[in-house]
Amino acid sequence: MSESLARFSAGGPAAGSERLLVGSIHCHSTLSDGSATPRQILSIAADAGLDFVAITDHVPPAASDVPGKERKSGPSSLEGGALPLIEGGVLRIPGLEFSPPRNHYLVLGLDPWEVPDPTGLPGWPDRASSCVEAVSGRPGVLGFMAHPDDEGNPLLKVDSYRWDDWTVQGSTGMEIWNLSTDWSRVLRSYRDVLRALAVGLYRAVPPPHPATLARWDRLAQERAVVGIAGTDAHAYPVKWHGLSVTVLPYGPALQTLQTAVWVGKDALEASPEERVRLVLDAVGRGRTFMVNRAWGYPTGFSFRARLPADGDTVFQSGDTVPAGVVVRFEATVPWPAWLRLVRNGRVVANTYGRELTFEPYEGEGSPGAPTARGAARQEAWRAEVWVHSGHWTRSGSGFFLWILSNFIYRSLR
Ligand SMILES: [Zn+2]
Ligand SMILES: [Zn+2]
Repeated sequence: MSESLARFSAGGPAAGSERLLVGSIHCHSTLSDGSATPRQILSIAADAGLDFVAITDHVPPAASDVPGKERKSGPSSLEGGALPLIEGGVLRIPGLEFSPPRNHYLVLGLDPWEVPDPTGLPGWPDRASSCVEAVSGRPGVLGFMAHPDDEGNPLLKVDSYRWDDWTVQGSTGMEIWNLSTDWSRVLRSYRDVLRALAVGLYRAVPPPHPATLARWDRLAQERAVVGIAGTDAHAYPVKWHGLSVTVLPYGPALQTLQTAVWVGKDALEASPEERVRLVLDAVGRGRTFMVNRAWGYPTGFSFRARLPADGDTVFQSGDTVPAGVVVRFEATVPWPAWLRLVRNGRVVANTYGRELTFEPYEGEGSPGAPTARGAARQEAWRAEVWVHSGHWTRSGSGFFLWILSNFIYRSLR
């Protein structure tokens, strides 16, 4: 076994040495345009059985994802500074969302009162990289391009808050799946809204925007790009035909799109500060996947690549298989579902069952799609799990995305 492979065997998780933590990322509190206080959200997260929650208020706090909800003044530092890292058994991951008119940037590992006022950054608000640069390189801090292909919604009169500067370097990854913007994308008439309500807003969550997936698959052939899921819950009250309606209330929203993370078992005995560090370290390395929890808890999901002749050498999401090494990809789920294996954005294997295995032909070259900055450096492999239900979907297919893995990379050089 070569030295680089030995590293993976030695560093790979022994059976039972890792634990899955499942939490919710990206929501807003009364510190910006949300409707519950951070403490109320922590208590809702505890009731939902979450392991962690990242409240990501807008910076500056007057910014908003919701038209007409802009705040006049910012939070006091005391209001935020008093927030605990653990409450009711839920770990609070510090977070914020830099919110210029375009290019919202989600930051994990820092609280809103720990960053400079972005309106004073060079090039604000048009230069997306100023927000990225303000936090990149800080130890334990991650950054994600939020809802990058948000289209807004003419029916609900919501503007597009898309990401439009793709030259930016230094982010950890992208928010691939967003409960609010992925719904907003498909609800284009009152008829759509009524049908969605009939099927269930939480189970029938549309899959990520195809353009976002395509970007992710393409960028990942150049560099590691971590994907996360967010809810963007604000629980904002609206009046609709004389009725008071709360759009995406926190309780149900926090039980839909979640981000699952594998951490070492001893993480549970660590201090809250250390636990935050361990969760963010795992997310930053891509040891994470996205799940719509409304279709079930993802215990038993795994996505790995193994040497066919040496079952102990295992690569997991976030890892890179060295060039020329032949591996077998394996995805497993706790009960039968539709499993798809995707390489560089193309489905290469598709099966119904509890397990999918796929061994690319030895020596099979894959040049990959040409990327924005030239030839691909690596292949990007990921797994998807879909469930089938007879309920209505916009496409009429009845398939709903349950789990979306992060990438296992395969070096081409
Ligand atoms: Zn946003
Ligand atoms: Zn947001």
